Amino acid sequence: MMTFPCIQCGECCRHAGEVPQLATKVDTDGVCRYLDKRTNRCTIYDMRPKVCNVSYMYQTYFKAQMTEGEFIQKNLQVCCHLNRAAGKIANVERLETILEHFNP
Ligand code: SF4
Ligand code: SF4
Repeated sequence: MMTFPCIQCGECCRHAGEVPQLATKVDTDGVCRYLDKRTNRCTIYDMRPKVCNVSYMYQTYFKAQMTEGEFIQKNLQVCCHLNRAAGKIANVERLETILEHFNP
């Protein structure tokens, strides 16, 4: 099992409102209420919903369609897109560097 190279920017959790499985977990601003906005950490990490667990999602739903590396790469591209849309350029640069050296 591969480890997802998360930079802990919290941007995915700030867009939890766009994920149907997280509909009951978001505040009115669309941000997951379990995100610690100061540290960008998930406050229920060990009990987080399955949709927040990249390894679980890969093993359960995507294993037959692509390698785990390809799945991680696709997710990293989304991380990059979310940060670019939010104007968080330093995060975009960090993620692009990870993607450049990523060999799925
Ligand atoms: S957007 Fe990507 S890099 Fe940022 S916290 Fe979420 S999974 Fe990690
Ligand atoms: S449950 Fe945790 S990992 Fe999932 S969106 Fe909320 S803060 Fe993020």
